[in-house]
Amino acid sequence: MSTTRNSPPASSDAVRKSMQGNKRRDTKPEMVVRKMLRELGFPGYRLDWKKAHGHPDIAYPGRKIAIYVMGCFWHRHEGCKYASTPKTHADYWEAKFARNVERDAEVRAAMEADGWQVVEIWECELKKDRIDETRERLRSEIEYAFIEMYK
Ligand SMILES: [Zn+2]
Repeated sequence: MSTTRNSPPASSDAVRKSMQGNKRRDTKPEMVVRKMLRELGFPGYRLDWKKAHGHPDIAYPGRKIAIYVMGCFWHRHEGCKYASTPKTHADYWEAKFARNVERDAEVRAAMEADGWQVVEIWECELKKDRIDETRERLRSEIEYAFIEMYK
């Protein structure tokens, strides 16, 4: 499904950039997370895993770990400065955002019901000043699944 077909014209460069950002594969944030996983010593991830709800960007199907790299703007990172609402066509955007948030919650619930561990990484958590903290969170959230394999 195209996300831009019925969109009002982009009202600013920031919105246009965000709209384009929503469509890209192998986005920079995703690449950063992949690099992080390699550095942490958790290889063997699969990309865009289509056999699971919401096609996780990065998944370890055998260990049932799904990592979603979330754009703050589209997925409405709560309290985040990047989750702004465009001033024009506000109704349109709010409806669209509400659908995204609802869908994210459904995907998460469905994954957890199927026994997956869901890890969400927000784009802003990959900025220079927060990336070390994010790497540690990622490690602590998933390392047990790797350690168990070697018990
Ligand atoms: Zn954010």
